Amino acid sequence: MNIADLARPEIRALAPYASARALADSAGILLNANENPWPPEGDAGLGLNRYPEPQPTELKKRLAAYYGVSPENLLLTRGSDEGIDLLMRAFVRPHADRVITCPPCFGMYALSARIQGAELVEIPLRESGDGFELDRAGLSKAGPAKLVFLCSPNNPTGDGLAAETVLELARRRADEGLVVIDEAYIEFSDRQSLASRVAQQPNLVVLRTLSKAFGLAGCRLGALIAHPKVIDLLRRIIPPYPLPTPAVAAAEAALEPEAVAARREQIDLLMDDKRRLVQALETHPAVRRVWPGEANFVLVRTTDGPALVRDAAAAGIRLRDQSAQPGLADCVRITLGTPEENTAFIEFLQDWKA
Ligand code: PMP
Repeated sequence: MNIADLARPEIRALAPYASARALADSAGILLNANENPWPPEGDAGLGLNRYPEPQPTELKKRLAAYYGVSPENLLLTRGSDEGIDLLMRAFVRPHADRVITCPPCFGMYALSARIQGAELVEIPLRESGDGFELDRAGLSKAGPAKLVFLCSPNNPTGDGLAAETVLELARRRADEGLVVIDEAYIEFSDRQSLASRVAQQPNLVVLRTLSKAFGLAGCRLGALIAHPKVIDLLRRIIPPYPLPTPAVAAAEAALEPEAVAARREQIDLLMDDKRRLVQALETHPAVRRVWPGEANFVLVRTTDGPALVRDAAAAGIRLRDQSAQPGLADCVRITLGTPEENTAFIEFLQDWKA
């Protein structure tokens, strides 16, 4: 099966937009992009009067090395949100194709599928002893789908998936569609990324982001890792200059070895402090269940989830209500903050009565 044959016929027939700012065209006297020749006040050498390189070579090189893949396996996007949207638009025919999600999960998979007019098939996770598990039998019976979205560690449950579970699903569905594994939180977990496996498994797509472990949510930088044929299809529909120059510069700096090492230390600090948060939650009388998970957040079920969110907000602390997700009535997601912020939450919790 040629992976490109799974894409929408309209997309297969497209040629990518010919951008004027590919690296090779960006030296000399630049009279080819209707830009203003003068940089703005306070430009600081960024050259903001010029369009950015569509897929910045240096950043791609650094990220490919960090993810252990080749640059041809990488598409840089405006956050993983854009990666999800591009996959949807390239592969899913409105009112014809199906998309599978396994809720409770990140809400953009379903929203993006609905925007595209996909038939959304939800195979809910099953609550097990320690956490939430994929319903493997349900997934095998679900029938063909152009995209299956999995997430490891999963938002909001925090559970990780075994590599073999994902790869087996991808192998079984190789003639039908892509299996997308969203690894937005993988740096917080001890698990290995599946990024390097896309070389052997052409229908496997891995989503990574600089929004979480790298602390660059404001830069909107995501990395979609896939077979070069998938990357080639997505490049046909991504807008011409998606990545703003200041965001790219910040990301390049964040990938300097010393900056990466400093982030690793911060991750250790966050994850160490998680124990303190989990302990405070587990000993609270109104808390029924705590799922520490493998990411930089904790999921908790209390006697009244919406009340916890409301009362915390009144104390100036924002939490995420998960009550609307299947199986998560009265559940709340709490992101780890700085030690001081975690202390503030723990102090609020000690006084909180449901
Ligand atoms: N995937 C998951 C599982 C997420 O939780 C999020 C952010 N909440 C995203 C993707 C989107 O991340 P980005 O900032 O890269 O668009």
